[in-house]
Amino acid sequence: VINDLSDLQKLSVLGHGNSGTVYKVRHRRTSSIFALKVLRFDHNTTTVRQQAVREAEILKRVDSPYIVRCHAVFDSDDDICFAMEHMERGSLQDVLLLHKVLSEEVISGVARRVLQGLQYLHRMKIVHRDIKPSNLLINAKGHVKIADFGVSRVVVGKHDSCDRFMGTCAYMSPERFDPEKWGGDHNADEFAGDVWSLGVVVLECLKGHYPLIGVGEKPDWAALVCAICFGEKLEMPENSSPEFRSFVRRCLEKDWRNRGTINELLDHPFVSRREILIDFG
Ligand code: ATP
Ligand code: MG
Repeated sequence: VINDLSDLQKLSVLGHGNSGTVYKVRHRRTSSIFALKVLRFDHNTTTVRQQAVREAEILKRVDSPYIVRCHAVFDSDDDICFAMEHMERGSLQDVLLLHKVLSEEVISGVARRVLQGLQYLHRMKIVHRDIKPSNLLINAKGHVKIADFGVSRVVVGKHDSCDRFMGTCAYMSPERFDPEKWGGDHNADEFAGDVWSLGVVVLECLKGHYPLIGVGEKPDWAALVCAICFGEKLEMPENSSPEFRSFVRRCLEKDWRNRGTINELLDHPFVSRREILIDFG
């Protein structure tokens, strides 16, 4: 148990995000290694703070092998710190930078674990809302887990519109940009939004770059939204299997009402027929 922040000794920086820094730390008494995410508050901090408190409340309720565990939360005037399970191999984004593309076997294993994580979260009425490569972390065993609940929240009552647009746009589903056209005012779309994001991640892993706009295209806001909401043709990698294509199409169905559900996708041959084999080499 980590009783106090002073129990933890900073070893190195693991990465920087939009709202803070993640450190590798050592628990002095036990020598156990953790990742410490520090969100700092300077000025004008209400949003960051609200986000952090929300993150802490959600993290405390979560206990699953498919979700990065949070061992302790420390809240002070200047910052809020989360002592998390250390994921030795970093994020899926780090892995993609290193390997460029992944094999269908590996991607299938990643997709399966993310779906299991989402199934757990959705049962707890938690929508993640920010599924993207930097929020999928990998441990020494090659197990992928979902992290970072900064913009996720418990689904209750009405949306507040600012909240809705905080996720990373590139991985956001069409109904989040245009709720009227896509009927996204209904709460069910929120869960379907996580499935869409997984579809973008899966396609990115096989193509080796963000898949909804051309390589080298400078993605401005308008082009991105246009590609997400109205892009007609999904460019599948040439040698991809029929199972892969069908899985991605079920995730990237523009109308959330027709999109694959978590349970349907867990039974999809792309993830169900194969052995879970994750070897990032
Ligand atoms: P955003 O602020 O949009 O979430 P991000 O996901 O890149 O962006 P952070 O969640 O702060 O930002 O994480 C920054 C980086 O730190 C990650 O990309 C990852 O490489 C590393 N990291 C985060 N959590 C851990 C962890 N538990 N174990 C190991 N590395 C981690
Ligand atoms: Mg993150």
